[in-house]
Amino acid sequence: MPEYPPGHPSRGWVTAQVALGANLGDAAHTLRYAVQALAQAPGLRLEKVSGLYRTAPIGAGGPDYFNAVAQVATLLTAPALLAVLQATEQRFGRERPYPNAPRTLDLDLLLYGSAHIGSPTLTVPHPRMWQRAFVLVPLADIAPDLVSDPALAAVQGQPIERVGEVPGWQLFL
Ligand code: ADP
Ligand code: MG
Repeated sequence: MPEYPPGHPSRGWVTAQVALGANLGDAAHTLRYAVQALAQAPGLRLEKVSGLYRTAPIGAGGPDYFNAVAQVATLLTAPALLAVLQATEQRFGRERPYPNAPRTLDLDLLLYGSAHIGSPTLTVPHPRMWQRAFVLVPLADIAPDLVSDPALAAVQGQPIERVGEVPGWQLFL
């Protein structure tokens, strides 16, 4: 997949993976509504959702995180997809008082086809995804070809617990 400059129309359906995380309020249900928001956004089709995982916060205090990864097919460019993710975060009242602050909802674009993007506002593949068990473990659930065994081994020291499914996500397929 070639890299598209911002605003350039994409030329068909692209498979993309999105990491979802929440650690305030009813985090599991926040992830459910975030999945619903993705499924209902114009130009997005929900394809798969990983299991629901629970992890301790990294580099910050606060409650445990709930994490999942969703795979979508999209007609949107990567910057347009990021804008959808950020608008969805805003709808859930995301605030950024300080780095790594607890958040009601964090949506990160992990992969956009095979594109490599390095703009001031968007880096794809997501630059920290290979360091995070809470990204790689759920990603491997739904896209095992994208996560090598050495990549998983590199994060195996990070505790992560599967706690079920994102409630009701199949309703949004
Ligand atoms: P983090 O997710 O690393 O905790 P934020 O969600 O606050 O941090 O994101 C900060 C900025 O990261 C956003 O304003 C966005 O422009 C930028 N960014 C760069 N690449 C990506 C990406 N692949 N997915 C999501 N945000 C990204
Ligand atoms: Mg983010």
